[in-house]
Amino acid sequence: MEFSSKLLENAVNEMSQLPGIGKRTALRLVLHMLRQPENQTFQLANALTKVRAEINFCKSCHNISDNVLCEICSNPKRNSELICVVEDIRDVMAVENTSSFKGLYHVLGGKISPMDGIGPQDLNITTLVEKVKTGEVKELIFAMSPTMEGDTTNFYIFRQIQDYSVATSTIARGVAAGNELEYTDEITLGRSIIDRVPFEASLKS
Ligand SMILES: [Zn+2]
Repeated sequence: MEFSSKLLENAVNEMSQLPGIGKRTALRLVLHMLRQPENQTFQLANALTKVRAEINFCKSCHNISDNVLCEICSNPKRNSELICVVEDIRDVMAVENTSSFKGLYHVLGGKISPMDGIGPQDLNITTLVEKVKTGEVKELIFAMSPTMEGDTTNFYIFRQIQDYSVATSTIARGVAAGNELEYTDEITLGRSIIDRVPFEASLKS
């Protein structure tokens, strides 16, 4: 792609680093920004800079938060004995949208995937095990996407906590194998949490 301006080329190159954005789309977006009122582009740039520089993660569940504890963890109406273990922040949003879950979350920040060089030490697993050790957690619900990596991650965590008095369950597999949680419709996802099954039973199936 030939550019008449280094500034334009630079902006297109940066934009095309984003997932799913090729050079052509990047060019279209940059040209769009040049056409729209100047302050609109500055607001976008400012919001991105701010979210990147000032982002915080909840000390307890690792969800994105503007405070030390996120709104879910600091809500006294939530049931702190029940923890839904999810891969990332989008899953928290998906489960919250179902309005079927009143416990807390624990965001692992990914899943164990040796192929991608991601091991247990790269995920927020230690803090989860620590929570279980306090004895204040009565049940962990594994709500990872039903992929091989999700299953591996669930099993790894299960092995870490199986000697403590905590129940473990996994969301019912209305979520079709290979589907990502965030794409599951709210009713199906909500039901799959209500209809969750004991984790050990899921191992035998
Ligand atoms: Zn939190």
